Amino acid sequence: MYPLTFFSSLFGIEKDNHELCLTQYKSVTAHAPLVYMSLMLAVIGLAYVNMNNASAAVTIVMPLLLVLVDLIAFHSFMIQRDLNLSSYRSSVVRRLHVTVWSALALGVIHGGWVIILLAQGDAATQNLTVIIFSLSSLGAAICLLQLPVAAIALSVSAMSPLSLFLWFSGEPGHQISALAIAISTAVGAFAINRYGKDYSRMVMKQREVGAKKSEAEQISRLNRIMAHQDSLTGLANRRAFLSNINAQVADAQKGLMDGLSVGILDLDGFKLVNDVYGHPAGDRLLKSAGRRLTDLFYSRVFVARLGGDEFGIAVSGKRSQEELRALGERICSAMRVPFDLDGRSVHLGGSVGFARWTEVGDTAEILFERADYALYHTKESSRGAVTIFNDQHAARLREITVVDRQLHDADFDKEMSLMFQPIVSLGQQKTVGLEVLARWNSPALGIVTPDVFICSAERLGIINRLTASLLEKALRDAETWPDDLFMSFNLSMQDITSTAAVLKLVSIINSSGFDPKRITLEVPETAVMNNYERALDSLTLLKNLGVNIALDDFGTGYSSLAYVRTLPLDKLKLDRSFVVDLVRDAAARAVAGSMIEMCRSLNVDCIVEGVETGEQVRILNKLGCEIIQGYYCSRPLSAHDARAFVRSERQKKQAG
Ligand code: C2E
Ligand code: CA
Repeated sequence: MYPLTFFSSLFGIEKDNHELCLTQYKSVTAHAPLVYMSLMLAVIGLAYVNMNNASAAVTIVMPLLLVLVDLIAFHSFMIQRDLNLSSYRSSVVRRLHVTVWSALALGVIHGGWVIILLAQGDAATQNLTVIIFSLSSLGAAICLLQLPVAAIALSVSAMSPLSLFLWFSGEPGHQISALAIAISTAVGAFAINRYGKDYSRMVMKQREVGAKKSEAEQISRLNRIMAHQDSLTGLANRRAFLSNINAQVADAQKGLMDGLSVGILDLDGFKLVNDVYGHPAGDRLLKSAGRRLTDLFYSRVFVARLGGDEFGIAVSGKRSQEELRALGERICSAMRVPFDLDGRSVHLGGSVGFARWTEVGDTAEILFERADYALYHTKESSRGAVTIFNDQHAARLREITVVDRQLHDADFDKEMSLMFQPIVSLGQQKTVGLEVLARWNSPALGIVTPDVFICSAERLGIINRLTASLLEKALRDAETWPDDLFMSFNLSMQDITSTAAVLKLVSIINSSGFDPKRITLEVPETAVMNNYERALDSLTLLKNLGVNIALDDFGTGYSSLAYVRTLPLDKLKLDRSFVVDLVRDAAARAVAGSMIEMCRSLNVDCIVEGVETGEQVRILNKLGCEIIQGYYCSRPLSAHDARAFVRSERQKKQAG
């Protein structure tokens, strides 16, 4: 056993409990002046009281020496008290030991001197000496209560010689005093010991409370950070972004800032990365995209991740349209640089929408909504580019609000009607199917095209109800068609992302009695891309019913071949954007040709949409296209006209 450990255990000093030792040492240091003062006063008082009875050596020389010892001990104690003890555990313990030894020594020295005094004094001074010394020793011991072993050492070492002397004096009075002193010293030592234990428990409790408090503080600090930080990229999150633009708008309203622009960046093709390379790879890509974005700006631009593959950009200060566009283009170019995913180079793009703070009435919510609309506009019209919210967009946004309000209260059965557009086989030279296209005859707005009201129904969350109503209507009409015509019906994204909605479609088809093999359900490519796994489940469920599945507007949603192959598809509808340049652009012809070839290799029917001219038909024929749809064959027709169209076509064919 090391000496330090031995003495610590002997003295009841909990040397492994640094907090307790430190607290004890601080308390002892604080009370040390009182201990020494009480001892020195006792020495002076006792010397004075015994002046007439005892020799000069005992009442002058010895007291002077004792006071000198007290002063030296006090001084050496005090010069060390300011040293930094918190980090030196062993030095604190050592000093506590020194304190205990000092208390013991002081008790012995002072007690010894008092015995000499008692030996030379008369009965009256002896009584006074016992009282003065007992009280001052008790006072000194009380000052050392926080270090019980020192308090006990002082009182026992000072009182024991005294009570022994009185006991062995042989006088009954003195012997009673000796017993009283011995008993009260023992009881005092016991009480001090108990107090010491309670004290150390209290210090430990305080330490626990302190630790819990600091843990709670740390947790609440972490919560505060997490509430405002995106855990994946380390950027500010949506909440922090909104509160930042709120604060900036408030400054702009007060004239403290001369402008603010809010931008939203959406990564084009990110969903595909998640589906093809997995979510961990997608996460890594989002981190790099976040870094690229922050690296582009130095100051006055606040960047956040809003969620998914969307980032927010708040640009402080007045910026012209040109400056903002240039900034947006820098962002888009940065996102076009291939990303490195474990050695694979992944190509993405970025679409940006910006809205500028223009009027005092503009709130942060309005700005954000406009930026979102501008982004939506970019995604719709020119992916990978920048759109800055303008007056036309504002007018369009107002229209949307009106449409939303009217559609919300619309009676679908009464106000919705259907048009039918022929789908024609070039090989058979006849209409093989009819695509159902919805129209809304709103009492307030007149005829509204599906481009407008389908989006509105999706926004309002009533698309499933609308689809169900349209499908029932379409199936009723299709009952009257020739048996060899199929019905092609459009679904929206939300129709295939909810199981309840898919089951509703299944039940409508089942109860209609219409042959499911004569139904083709068209799902937009973007709908599948946005939620591939759910879409796959839904399409598989529908496919098991016997219906055909067509991927609509193919070529607009960043699909890859690998991805398309895994879907249970029967048909691909090539978007009309592939047809537009067919006549004058050889590259467009090559792309359309390879798409048609791809369908063949995947063993799915290829339907080319938006065919308007005979020249286009001639080229498509050459490229091996089998089925077309478009104004060249027929515009969308009413139910009655569609039936007449098919009938007359067949009559002509029979006649020919
Ligand atoms: P879509 O599925 O691509 O339908 C074809 C759209 O292109 C139709 O517009 C049609 O009128 C138009 N079109 C057909 N041939 C040509 C052509 O040669 N040239 C040009 N420029 N356009 C042509 P419509 O009827 O306005 O429908 C627009 C979109 O609305 C549809 O695009 C479809 O995605 C959606 N939609 C229509 N009806 C429904 C429906 O009942 N439910 C859902 N969810 N969506 C529908
Ligand atoms: Ca369609």
